[in-house]
Amino acid sequence: HNHIDAATPAKVKAAITANDVYPHIPDYQNLAAYTARGGYVELTDLRGGARSPEEVQQTVLESGLRGLGGAGFPSGRKWSFVRSYEGPRYLAVNGDEGEPGTFKDRYFLERTPHLFLEGALIAAWAVEAERIFVYMRDEYPAVLEILRREIAALEKARLIEPGYIDLRRGAGAYICGEESAMIESIEGKRGLPRHRPPYVAEVGVFVRPTLVHNVETLHWVARIVREGPEILSSVEKNGRKGLRAYSVSGRVKEPGVKLLPAGSTIRDLIEASGGMLDGHVFKAYQPGGPSSGLLPAALDDVPLDFDMLQPHGSFIGSAAVVVLSDKDSARAAALNMLRFFEDESCGQCTPCRVGCEKAVKLMEADRWDGDLLEDLCQAMADASICGLGQAAPNPIRSTLKHFPGEV
Ligand code: NAD
Ligand code: SF4
Repeated sequence: HNHIDAATPAKVKAAITANDVYPHIPDYQNLAAYTARGGYVELTDLRGGARSPEEVQQTVLESGLRGLGGAGFPSGRKWSFVRSYEGPRYLAVNGDEGEPGTFKDRYFLERTPHLFLEGALIAAWAVEAERIFVYMRDEYPAVLEILRREIAALEKARLIEPGYIDLRRGAGAYICGEESAMIESIEGKRGLPRHRPPYVAEVGVFVRPTLVHNVETLHWVARIVREGPEILSSVEKNGRKGLRAYSVSGRVKEPGVKLLPAGSTIRDLIEASGGMLDGHVFKAYQPGGPSSGLLPAALDDVPLDFDMLQPHGSFIGSAAVVVLSDKDSARAAALNMLRFFEDESCGQCTPCRVGCEKAVKLMEADRWDGDLLEDLCQAMADASICGLGQAAPNPIRSTLKHFPGEV
């Protein structure tokens, strides 16, 4: 997009005219190109009875695929949860991708949208979903346009019934990426997270059992079903299996999405991103969004995969890796993260609503009161309703632990 200072309507109109087309649609693989390379053969075969849902589920389990929205829940297992509840059932796709630093879903959708769409249709077939809701962030106008075009193409090709895939637009709230808030939003309500249990597998969209998957997870479902579970299970590095699409940004020469073995370390990621910017020395990194906090450069040999960062009070999440250098302040980065959570807290529960606000005030002081902040962190982690409030303390705790000299 053009960068527009002081975006008056006249300036916006001029910029749009100058761009000719808005939004700019990148070159992507459309339905004709996808089917020419064997696309939708698997789906058609499955619908024709070539394999049972249980067999396909077994293949997905063998691949080791885990939820790539960030939580890493074994993808195949969700299917049997959802199937165990009486229909009608739905599939809801989380395309809200709101984690600061995460842009992998956009990367895949702007290149190969039909891998995602075929994966969604296979998962919907596996749980006999009556309808698919795709919840897509409005900040991705090109993705929305691509999906509109390609869903219409699928309808025209009679691969789906008209209206079977219902494309819903988010409106910029980070909390609507939390799965139950997303469901509230799909239902037309304000996006407030629900208490769980019950999990959405049992009580989801319009009180129906709902399978919720992230966009990238479904991309891999299509590839696993077509190419076999080995495309993930045969990749090994540092004792870890699989591939991970890391969104790398910050002080590196070539930021972007890097598809690397899941056992890669931060050093591997920096190398795959062309190295550090000239004049910058690697100091710290955010491994998986602000809720994963900050880790110091000394922890540069940890495989950036699920379960590997827990001993360091962190997690890989959606693999939103931000690289900080000696020109950056860990303290300022942590404060920025808490200001983000303060802005994005839905306000429904006190530990998070008041806790984020209080934390920001305490972090703005010249010296941090570590004991008081830790008390606050504990209350937020223990008593918040959803992941936002529960994980918001992580940047505070990791800064106190790894960068005490700055606070
Ligand atoms: P979670 O571990 O609570 O749940 C993960 C999934 O498993 C959910 O779909 C949940 O319904 C299901 N599940 C878990 N236990 C279940 C059970 N017993 N029965 C049935 N289903 C069950 O995690 P979460 O709160 O959904 O997600 C947290 C993650 O989201 C964080 O790790 C963070 O990295 C990530 N995140 C990602 C983005 C993004 O833009 N991609 C934004 C914010 C947060
Ligand atoms: Fe809302 Fe925060 Fe409570 Fe989550 S933890 S429900 S975002 S107030």
